[in-house]
Amino acid sequence: MAAQIWYEKDADLNNLKGKKIAIIGYGSQGHAHALNLRDSGADVVVGLRPTSKSVQYAKEQGLEVKSVADAVKEADSVMILLPDQTQRFVWKDEIEPNLKPNASVGFAHGFNIHYGYIKPSADHMIYMVAPKGPGHIVRREYEAGRGVPIVAAVEQDPQGDGWAFTLAYAKALGALRAGAIKTSFKEETETDLFGEQDVLMGGINHLFEMGFEVLTDAGYQPEIAYFEVFHEVKMLVDLAIEGGLNKARWSCSDTAQYGDYTSTVVDEHTRKNMEYQLKRIQNGDFAREFIADQDAGAPKFKKLQEEYSNLRIETVGPKLRAMFSWTKQSDDADETDSFNGKIARTQVQ
Ligand code: NAD
Ligand code: MG
Repeated sequence: MAAQIWYEKDADLNNLKGKKIAIIGYGSQGHAHALNLRDSGADVVVGLRPTSKSVQYAKEQGLEVKSVADAVKEADSVMILLPDQTQRFVWKDEIEPNLKPNASVGFAHGFNIHYGYIKPSADHMIYMVAPKGPGHIVRREYEAGRGVPIVAAVEQDPQGDGWAFTLAYAKALGALRAGAIKTSFKEETETDLFGEQDVLMGGINHLFEMGFEVLTDAGYQPEIAYFEVFHEVKMLVDLAIEGGLNKARWSCSDTAQYGDYTSTVVDEHTRKNMEYQLKRIQNGDFAREFIADQDAGAPKFKKLQEEYSNLRIETVGPKLRAMFSWTKQSDDADETDSFNGKIARTQVQ
């Protein structure tokens, strides 16, 4: 069966009329949802800890800001955009006890519902609007008149109006300019984690790092290595997103194509590794390991973050990028100001 895909014409913003939407959190996704929905005419309140630096950032953007409890109390829908590892605590202490009886609850990733860390009662419509892109791009694309595609799901639908609301929310976010694909919390959670671990990040990030090290260890100039194993990837990915891998290959030389087809870097061992990682996602082992580390103060996470942010390609990268007139730092409006060369965005709870 073909996937169900929705566009602007399939959703009606009137389904948001008269509804107060509380956006909880003002990080990567939170600032984008709050600002895009507000700019689309929705009635938005941002829920934050009073001590959060984001309070000032959100207010500067003209948004109404309240404590999480107060924002939830008046909301007809509560979109939870907190770190996945924090959501269940805020849910239990501040969201669940203050929810209006029929308020709907939204997520941008299925982690907490799928793995059972949050279990809302049956009277709440539970929906997902999960952008398939970083929050800062969700905001930038909206401002440019475009949108980042999303996947959408409705897990509980007590009143039967779940999809009408979810698609209206997606439209206000700007996402239906690109398209929304119907999914389930289970499918989104498992495939999202797989994508991050095996291809988008855990796959290619390690290829970049290793490629850079192999070339520089062999005595080649870091400037050259940076171009060969990292910078060029953007151009190839742009072509591939436009016209598939066939188009990216078409634009490269026969020499390059032959090397691509005959390469042994990614082999059946890689497939086995991917299948192993997928199994750990499906049986909950990855989620349990991540949550246990976070609950212990994230010792393993912090150590890895530190280690990886200091790998050679990252220490050489800033000097090289400073030389390029075409790589400009963008200003993104959330609590972190602009990215300042450090990965860590939020304090671990
Ligand atoms: P983030 O770390 O960027 O921001 C989290 C926000 O929550 C911050 O404003 C922080 O101050 C606030 N916060 C943390 N603890 C809090 C507490 N106890 N009480 C109140 N506020 C608190 O998070 P994010 O990356 O935007 O992720 C939010 C959700 O979106 C997650 O479910 C994530 O999986 C999902 N998601 C993220 C991206 C992305 O681009 N980062 C993409 C798709 C889906
Ligand atoms: Mg993801």
